[in-house]
Amino acid sequence: MAEFSRESLQQLDAAHHLHPFTDSGALHQKGARVIERGEGAYLWDLDGHRLLDGMAGLWCVNLGYGRQELIAAANAQLQQLPYYNLFFQTTHPPAAKLAATLAEILPGDLKHLFFTGSGSECNDTVVRMVRHFWAEQGRPERTVIISRHNAYHGSTLAGASLGGMKPMHRQGGLPLPDIVHIDQPYHFGEGQGVDPHAFGLERAQQLEQKILELGPERVAAFIGEPVQGAGGVIIPPDSYWPEIQRICKKYDILLVADEVICGFGRTGHWFASEHFGIVPDLLCMAKGITSGYIPLGAVAVSGRVANTLIAGGEFFHGFTYSGHPVACAVAQANIAVMQKEHIVERVHEDIGPYLQQRWASLGDHPLVGETRGLGLVAALELVADKTSLTRFPEEAGAGLVCREHSLDSGLIMRAVGDTMIISPPLIITREQVDELIEKARCALDLTLTTLS
Ligand code: PLP
Repeated sequence: MAEFSRESLQQLDAAHHLHPFTDSGALHQKGARVIERGEGAYLWDLDGHRLLDGMAGLWCVNLGYGRQELIAAANAQLQQLPYYNLFFQTTHPPAAKLAATLAEILPGDLKHLFFTGSGSECNDTVVRMVRHFWAEQGRPERTVIISRHNAYHGSTLAGASLGGMKPMHRQGGLPLPDIVHIDQPYHFGEGQGVDPHAFGLERAQQLEQKILELGPERVAAFIGEPVQGAGGVIIPPDSYWPEIQRICKKYDILLVADEVICGFGRTGHWFASEHFGIVPDLLCMAKGITSGYIPLGAVAVSGRVANTLIAGGEFFHGFTYSGHPVACAVAQANIAVMQKEHIVERVHEDIGPYLQQRWASLGDHPLVGETRGLGLVAALELVADKTSLTRFPEEAGAGLVCREHSLDSGLIMRAVGDTMIISPPLIITREQVDELIEKARCALDLTLTTLS
C-alpha cells in the first residue's frame, strides 16, 4: 500500500468504484475514507487516525480484527482444499463438520443447515424453501410471505422485497408479488403515549389481521428480525414475539427468524430467539458466523421442514459458494474461540450489562429522547425537545451531523435517520466501553453546538 497516497487511492476509487449504499456524487466531492488496517476493536485510516469501531464493521466483526485463530484456519483450509462445491451429492469436511456444530448450538429442533454466501442469499433461500415446502405439503397456494415495514433482509430482489425499506422498493420496482408488510413494533417512533405492552400486542395482532385479510390458506410464512438492526435497533416490547409465535401456530404459518445480525452472541445468547422465547421453523444467520472474516450464510430449518424437503426430491436451488470450504473452516474456528473464551456468557453477564448501564447514562443529555439496548447492541434517539420528544426537522440532518462528529472524535457510530446506533465487537473491554461512551457524549455535545 505504501506506494499509494490517500489522495491517489481516492482518485482511483472515484474514477472506477461504485459503492454500495452510497451517494456517489457526494462521495466524489469529499473523497472516500480509506480504512487501512484493524486490530482488536480498533481501525486505522490511511492518515493514521485510530477509530474505535462501534459497529464491528457492519455488525459482524464479533471477535475483533486480527484474530490469528481465524486467519490460521483460513490458511490451512486454503492449502488443503481452497474450493469445492456441495452440489450433486458431494460434501467436504468443513461443511459437514460445521453443519453438525451449528446443529448443536442452535435452539429448538433446528438441526439441518442450508449454506449460502450471505444474509441476502439466506433470505432468497427462505422464499424458495417455504414455497417449495408448502407445495410438497400439497398446499401450493400458500405463497404469501408477511414481513414488516422498515425491516432489513438484504439487497437481492427477494431480500429487498422482504425488507420494508421504501427507498429500496422505489428504486427496483419492488416488492416482488406475494410479499406483504405489516407495521413494525417501534415504540419510540410509532407508539408514543401507548403502554409498551399493549403496543407490542397491537403490532403483533396486525399479523392476524393481515392473515385473515389475505386468507390463511394463502399465507406461507412470517419473517422478522428479533431485533431490527438496520431499521434503527428496534427492540420490541416483551409482549410482541410470544404473540407472533401464537398467531403463527394458530394458522400453521412458518415462523422465520432473520438472525443475520442477532445471531452469534450479539444479544447475550447464541441466538436472540432464545432471549425472546420463540422457536422459529427457519432461522437465517451470516455476519457473526465468521466474525465477517469471510462471507458465509446459513439457513437452519426444523425437522418438519427438513423432512419435507428431503422427501421432496431435488431442490433446484444453490450457490457456487454455498458452504465455501474456507468460510466453513473460519466459522468453525470462530465458534471454537467463542466457546473457549465464553464470549456469549460474557456478553450476557458482564460486558453487555456494563455497556447498557453506561449507554443509559447518555439519557441525561439534552439531545437524547430515549436510550435502549440489549446485549451489545444499542440505540439512542436524537430529539430537538427532550420534554415533548419532538424530532428535529428532516433537513437539519441531526443524525448525520452526530455521525460526523462521532467520527471526528474517533468513534464509528451509525445514524439511521436521527437514531444513533452501536454494535461493537463482542471482545470490547470495559475500558473501551468507557472510551466509547466518552466519545459518544463528546459527539452529542458537538452536535448540540452545531444544531443550536
Ligand atoms: N438480514 C439482516 C437482518 C441484515 O441485517 C442483513 C445485512 O445487514 C442482511 C439480512 C443481508 O445480509 P448480507 O448483506 O450479508 O447479504
